[in-house]
Amino acid sequence: MPSFHITPDGKKLVTLIPGDGIGPECIESARRIIDASGAAVAWEVRQAGESVFKQGIQTGVPQDTIESIRKTRVVLKGPLGTPVGYGEKSANVTLRKLFETYANIRPVRELPNVTTPYSGKNIDLVVVRENVEDLYAGIEHMQTPGVAQCLKLISCKGCEKIVRLAFEFARSEGRKKVACATKSNIMKLTEGTLKRTFEAVAKEYPDLETSHIIIDNCAHQLVKNPTQFDVIVTTNMNGDIISDLTSALVGGLGFAPSANIGNEVAIFEAVHGSAPKYAGKNNINPTAVILSGVMMLRHLGEFEAANKITHALICTLEDGKFMTRDVVGDAKATTTTGYTDAIIANLGRTAKHFPVRDTKPIKLPELPSTPAFVTVATRRVIGADIFIESPLLPHELGPSLERFAEGTPLKLKMISNRGTQVYPPTGAMTDCVDSYRCRFILRDTAGDLQDADLLALVNKIATQHRWNHIEKMQEFNGEAGYTKAQGED
Ligand code: NAP
Repeated sequence: MPSFHITPDGKKLVTLIPGDGIGPECIESARRIIDASGAAVAWEVRQAGESVFKQGIQTGVPQDTIESIRKTRVVLKGPLGTPVGYGEKSANVTLRKLFETYANIRPVRELPNVTTPYSGKNIDLVVVRENVEDLYAGIEHMQTPGVAQCLKLISCKGCEKIVRLAFEFARSEGRKKVACATKSNIMKLTEGTLKRTFEAVAKEYPDLETSHIIIDNCAHQLVKNPTQFDVIVTTNMNGDIISDLTSALVGGLGFAPSANIGNEVAIFEAVHGSAPKYAGKNNINPTAVILSGVMMLRHLGEFEAANKITHALICTLEDGKFMTRDVVGDAKATTTTGYTDAIIANLGRTAKHFPVRDTKPIKLPELPSTPAFVTVATRRVIGADIFIESPLLPHELGPSLERFAEGTPLKLKMISNRGTQVYPPTGAMTDCVDSYRCRFILRDTAGDLQDADLLALVNKIATQHRWNHIEKMQEFNGEAGYTKAQGED
């Protein structure tokens, strides 16, 4: 278990960030319930989000908030907004990345009297989403004035961490199945790394039933037959999307908690945002933040308080007398504070029909924190993709580049436009844009491309064409570290 900051009166200190919009109301509800449960928790209130951006702090996260989190290692936070015109990056993403909370755990479970088209099916599943890599690494460039690109970065180390955490999480909750959802059929190297890592690590968890599913079918199956799933592990963007879908299966964002787990720090928050139109109206549903607080108590080892709050929450829903607007509509709704009071009044009661899960602390994967170097027996560079901005048509650009390659160790293999080969022509009816990938390979098929030869070619090309980036084509242990274009032989 990570080491927590203990106050002089024996409580575990937690950084509490009220957040923006409906955040302060949700956080106040959760805080009152946790305090009333008798959990040995103390709070250090800190700010992040809109008010901080407006003070001119570009990240939306002030230094004293960072210091507090460094000390407490545990955060309960409300949603944070990024006001238009302030800061470039979301304060949420900044917090997740600053503290390398690489796993985002998003459980959903059917709740009593929260009626959905799936009521009665007992949905109870968890999405474990990789939280720092993928397209959300936020590495974007304009290749040309008209073509944008975003780098999808997936590392072997990142995959191993999230996969191991998903298996350990499944064990900690006594779950039976883990499915890995990827788009590895299309993105064989990036999404494929998660699939391959999952299949390798699965051998160490023979007690769990494992499977792989393509992410689009996963979305389809989640709507058609959600109870077939137990734990789903997936990459960042896939997880972002399917976890919003899964929250809708059990009643919407008001009921979807989450935990951002890292080796050092854990941040607990609702899946929902700051819903500004409801801010200050005392009518939102604080359940997602309350359940995030329950996840936090389990992380802190406060199992008794966690179970007590879960039972009180379920009893309140079973009674059905005090329900929020999103569940019963405006006419019959109670206020956020009324709902909170009802839960507090129910502390000590036991839910009738809702088995509260027995959980153990998650055994966090222990991987070295030094940079990950994957060593290989052999490696060589067999060519390079040079990306060129050009107004020419493929049949004009191709011969021009062939002339530049004459007399060099490299030859033009093909040119693609947004991934489809356009030179030599294949008969594809591609609607070209002005960014071409021009693939040059060594004439000597057993050779190893030297930087000087590549740079000499780039310098020649640059006399007539505008290049914007270069990717080496590498082979590791004899396996291609690049993919072919559509239509490339
Ligand atoms: P949102 O705040 O999640 O709200 C979308 C809708 O979900 C609301 O209009 C409401 O639906 C429902 N909803 C959300 N929370 C609810 C609750 N506790 N109780 C009842 N209903 C709830 O999404 P958004 O409007 O797209 O985003 C608003 C801001 O939040 C943006 O600045 C965004 O960047 C930020 N955000 C922050 C986080 C985070 O801090 N982790 C996450 C997501 C978004 P109805 O309109 O149907 O009533």
